[in-house]
Amino acid sequence: MMKSGSAGAARLSAKARLFSESVIREMTRHALAHGAVNLAQGFPDFPCPEEIKEAACRAIRGDVNQYAITWGAKGFREALAAKVGRFTGMQVDPEREITVTCGSTEAMIAALLAVVDPGDEVVVFEPFYENYGPDAILCGATPRFVSLRPAAGEGGAGAWTYDPAELRRAFGPRTRAVILNTPNNPTGKVFTRAELEEIAALCVEHDCLAITDEIYEHILFDGHEHVLIATLPGMRERTITINGLSKTYSVTGWRIGYAIAPPALTAGIRKVHDFLTVGAAAPLQEAGITALSLPDAYYHSLADLYRAKRDRFVPVLERAGFRCFAPSGAYYVMADISGLTKLDATAFALELVRDPGVAVVPGPSFFSKPQDGRSLVRFCFCKRDETLDEAARRLERWASSR
Ligand code: PLP
Repeated sequence: MMKSGSAGAARLSAKARLFSESVIREMTRHALAHGAVNLAQGFPDFPCPEEIKEAACRAIRGDVNQYAITWGAKGFREALAAKVGRFTGMQVDPEREITVTCGSTEAMIAALLAVVDPGDEVVVFEPFYENYGPDAILCGATPRFVSLRPAAGEGGAGAWTYDPAELRRAFGPRTRAVILNTPNNPTGKVFTRAELEEIAALCVEHDCLAITDEIYEHILFDGHEHVLIATLPGMRERTITINGLSKTYSVTGWRIGYAIAPPALTAGIRKVHDFLTVGAAAPLQEAGITALSLPDAYYHSLADLYRAKRDRFVPVLERAGFRCFAPSGAYYVMADISGLTKLDATAFALELVRDPGVAVVPGPSFFSKPQDGRSLVRFCFCKRDETLDEAARRLERWASSR
């Protein structure tokens, strides 16, 4: 699906041939080509907070323009440790437990390369954020998938669950780690404390690691709570907590992420990170200190902003005939298209981007077996109200002309 072949492909490594380019980024290019409203790639089309922009300009003018320490500028790591302590109570040693990376994307691949050997198994919940598949391939790991399914016959917040017996079966003697993303992209699921305790117990039983992507930690709706698996008993020493500035501060282009892990794991992650990228942008780490010290009110208004956008946009989709699984967190909504079309999701997405001109991500990108996502598409709603309203007008016109 959506693979582009060429004569030179035979020169690619076996690994690089095993995965295709990101469908999410590809849909962005289709959106540009067709003048479509881009509800495919999850980046805000509104500005980041003014004080953060100012801090970045100050840092550049103040000559913070050379390499920072490879694992992160000291001031930024200290600000990170303070912010994590403030929100979660977890005490983190900025000298030995933090690696600053080029986005959480790099943190994930650096962490996996640091702890996983070819032949190891990695447990992944699906649908999954599409990077985890290639990440596993690049480190030679075998993914063992566990399905998240909408509760029978209904959408609605919190409806995605997994079968505990299937989860247990996914763990075995070769399991090295479980990759967890909460709040979850693409489903909007927020793993509950009880679910995390269950996963934690399996990690302890099988002596394996949890690698958690918590990039949407502050985007929670309807009273849902973000629980760090690292804070559960027995998990601090076996968890790599991954996060970044992209989503919380609306700076996806800054490429600042981080991994928090116990010192021995951090030592490995830092080595991999150093040889992958040397380091993340120094002036933007400096500006990140300003971001991390924003008051609590900032985080509350971020969650309120996205809750209002969800509540504005999900009814639009439902009126147009999509069956939506309303998210409990993050800024995406999965929608079932089977009431609307006989096309599979990929063909449907390519039609939708042309007419009415709305870009979405086809469901197969989030599944190990593409057919499992054939009737699903993902919309993001991290856009200005004007953008969402324009998408709404297009979808309403399209729905009424069918
Ligand atoms: N992890 C998840 C679950 C995401 O949805 C995204 C972006 O959409 C990323 C990571 C990328 O984050 P970053 O910009 O920090 O690399």
